[in-house]
Amino acid sequence: MIVGIETGGTKVVCAAAHRDSPDRPVLTRRFPTTTPEETIGRIHDFVHEATSGDAPEAVGLASFGPVDADPSSARFGWITTTPKPGWSNVDLLGRVTPQGVPSAFVSDVVGAAVGELRYGAGRGTTSLAYATIGTGVGVGMVLDGRPIGGDGWPEVGHLLVRRHPADDFAGNCPFHGDCLEGLTAGPAVLARWGVDASSFAEDVRAERLAILASYIAQMAYSVVLTVGAQRFVLGGGVMQSAGLLEAVRAALPAIARGYGPASLSSADPAEVLVAPGVADSPGVIGALALAADLLR
Ligand code: ADP
Ligand code: ZN
Repeated sequence: MIVGIETGGTKVVCAAAHRDSPDRPVLTRRFPTTTPEETIGRIHDFVHEATSGDAPEAVGLASFGPVDADPSSARFGWITTTPKPGWSNVDLLGRVTPQGVPSAFVSDVVGAAVGELRYGAGRGTTSLAYATIGTGVGVGMVLDGRPIGGDGWPEVGHLLVRRHPADDFAGNCPFHGDCLEGLTAGPAVLARWGVDASSFAEDVRAERLAILASYIAQMAYSVVLTVGAQRFVLGGGVMQSAGLLEAVRAALPAIARGYGPASLSSADPAEVLVAPGVADSPGVIGALALAADLLR
């Protein structure tokens, strides 16, 4: 049995699967992320139950961060400096992995990118980016089949973007004000308009979605120009808003103006900018896939 764990800022998803079918967990559990002690204790309980007390064959962990995911670092597998109380400088990988069990560690969004590439909207590609537009904005990537990440990066959530002319919101990122996250994450939507993106009144809906879409499309364009991802999966709570994905696709041509890699300049944006294909928690499926890889 292999175990995948996705530790999010608000909830944890644990799953166990057979090594040859990481995309089909046989046991899954969700619980809130509380203190490190309680949360890690519940992860241990899950592992114990899933393996009937034996050690798992391998563990994959995808965590909220910032994390140190650089295998050459002395703090590989740690959550480093997070505003989440109690969670700074926690050796998460060391504390959840039983002694002697092979383990893999990536950030939560890199885990989701792996899950989507292998088993979701990225099947058939080798390079993919995954964004969550949720409580925050985060982007994970797999390039030429390799999960990308190191000491706290990528950090695309704080990308600086050109302002939409009809948007006078100052932005609410505590560091930058109007970076991508400060303009598009759920709390920014709520602070700007008083409701979440699924509750806009009909008469203002199209304009508000166009404002959000202009920033999200700039992110997708910048990332694809930089790393050449063939597909960009847009996930997270804000992207659940009906019509937002279509608005992002519609915003892309005016940003790209025909320039860029083929995936963005000539292809149909609907083939590049896509919704998640793993119905539930791509991050935990990615964590299981990375655990299975360790046994090949
Ligand atoms: P997290 O980022 O904490 O893992 P989510 O991806 O669910 O969680 O993002 C939560 C944010 O997304 C909240 O700020 C919420 O307002 C927003 N959100 C959740 N569901 C929707 C929805 N259906 N439509 C628009 N916004 C949503
Ligand atoms: Zn910022």
